[in-house]
Amino acid sequence: MSPYPPNSDSRLWNDVLREGPRFLEAVRKAVGDDVDIMVDAGGSDQYWHGDLKWAMEAARMLAHYNVVWFEEALRADDLEGYRQLRAASPVHISAGEVITRRQNFYAWIEARALDIVQPDLCIVGGLSEGRRIAWAADDHHILVVPHGWNTAVGLAADLHLTAAIPNARYVEYWFPAPYVDGILAKPFRLDSNGLLAIPTGPGLGIEVDEEKVRHYARAG
Ligand SMILES: [Mg+2]
Repeated sequence: MSPYPPNSDSRLWNDVLREGPRFLEAVRKAVGDDVDIMVDAGGSDQYWHGDLKWAMEAARMLAHYNVVWFEEALRADDLEGYRQLRAASPVHISAGEVITRRQNFYAWIEARALDIVQPDLCIVGGLSEGRRIAWAADDHHILVVPHGWNTAVGLAADLHLTAAIPNARYVEYWFPAPYVDGILAKPFRLDSNGLLAIPTGPGLGIEVDEEKVRHYARAG
């Protein structure tokens, strides 16, 4: 018998647990053994209904497929839920993309609620604030994966932050996406190893193509 109440949302969460193995096996087969797989559940969504017990069950399933981290498994403000999930989960637990200001991150870092924090530099106040969050995370042996789900400018900042701190290895970004690959004179491209180069020009190292930006501006 299902442990979830009989409504459409609970069916969805059961489907995730039931279909997940088949899906993950297909992804692993497609990318091979040398590519890291992460799973983002999207707990910041305003209609999110996944709860702690669901997340714990999902985490155990994901561990079976060597998923590197399980992201946004719970609602974005559920600090206590994340603390319990992180303590119990065999896979790394990440979140934080909608958290604003370093002062809010400190509570999550000090509570050991996450294995990985994901500040969005366009939300937390830019590179300087992101750097302070990153160092606080490093003091607590927490990894930082910047959340670059915004624009090419944000992604450039994420790459620089990631290169400048010891506790970062990945950048999460949006691709294909018009505001990421459609507004630069030279768009970001993955190299043959699947890596993004850190821009080396002045400032953030990118050149925004204003004509392309105008294309996406509301005024046209
Ligand atoms: Mg994400």
